[in-house]
Amino acid sequence: MEFIGFTYVTNFLENTLKDAMFEVVDEANRLFADWGLRVRFIYLDSLTLEPGYLINVKTPEGTVRLYPLEVLVDFLDYRLKVELEKDDEIAMNKILGLISFPLASRNRYFDFYESFLGFQAERLGRRIMVLSMRPFESDVLRMTLRTLENPHVEEEVKRLARRILSRELETFKGRLLKGILHEVGHAFGLEHCSNPCVMNPPATMEEWDSRPAVFCDSCMEKLNESLGSFTL
Ligand SMILES: [Zn+2]
Ligand SMILES: [Zn+2]
Repeated sequence: MEFIGFTYVTNFLENTLKDAMFEVVDEANRLFADWGLRVRFIYLDSLTLEPGYLINVKTPEGTVRLYPLEVLVDFLDYRLKVELEKDDEIAMNKILGLISFPLASRNRYFDFYESFLGFQAERLGRRIMVLSMRPFESDVLRMTLRTLENPHVEEEVKRLARRILSRELETFKGRLLKGILHEVGHAFGLEHCSNPCVMNPPATMEEWDSRPAVFCDSCMEKLNESLGSFTL
């Protein structure tokens, strides 16, 4: 069995979305088991970044304060190394870090396509994956969360908001699950694919919603091959 370290950055993450995130990672592990894939996520504790690492990023919507990808990759790689020093028997050379803010680099702002599909880096045989959950949150979801946090909103409005929230959360979880499966596919050498498959890259969020949360036969075969050949 091969393991992928899983962690998340606590900065800017609401509790409701954190709970949803854990449900999705559990669901990914359940699917791996159902599909007979010899891979599982293991949780490596969360990561909190100091405000000193924040940078100003110019976007088409104005300047925003974000943690740059370069810092995230360094932290995630360090986190993975610490884990491997604790136990070098475990078959694990990959880590996935989920973040709740848009992916940004010191050098340039990622466009929708890149920020949507995550980022991967290779360090001395270690694979570091960063996936932003931000593009999976609908405007309605964010509005509903803000409504529920507001102490001045009437109970009747909050009841309505909670109903909308549960629907929007399901959409969010479906998108995130597919995002995670897609990144795992890349981490094990899968390319994009044009079948009805989670490796089929979308141009819009509507397209992403229409993708099935599965690997097609051809991708599944490659995935199994690559998992079978893993040596530490
Ligand atoms: Zn991709
Ligand atoms: Zn495929």
